[in-house]
Amino acid sequence: MPQCIFCQMVAGEIKPAVVYEDELTLAFRDINPQAPVHVLVIPKAHVTNLNELPADAPGLAAALFETVKRVAALEGIAESGYRTVVNCLGDAGQAVDHLHLHVLGGRRLHWPPG
Ligand code: ADP
Repeated sequence: MPQCIFCQMVAGEIKPAVVYEDELTLAFRDINPQAPVHVLVIPKAHVTNLNELPADAPGLAAALFETVKRVAALEGIAESGYRTVVNCLGDAGQAVDHLHLHVLGGRRLHWPPG
């Protein structure tokens, strides 16, 4: 899916500020940060949203959360705390149709989200 902006990042056609990457996942800084730390973690394979995460590939879900944990450690928020958010489809305000986990931290976060 070459027109997908996050697939273009995986392909190296757009260069985000990469925090971490491995075989299955890529983590990069959100262009419009909502907290001092705001990193997006994506699968390198195109998955449109959480509903489409393949049930027969549990390793991918595990890899995404392992990357979230690694990002938190790299960014120095593992101990102070952080939030991981996945917006899925319209009511949640998903704006980019490539599954992504927001990792937010570095300040006291409000609850509940709007
Ligand atoms: P929302 O925009 O409501 O947070 P999403 O959950 O789909 O919806 O999040 C998409 C995220 O992708 C946004 O936080 C946005 O700032 C980020 N984003 C969009 N384009 C880029 C880009 N080129 N580089 C980094 N982050 C981006």
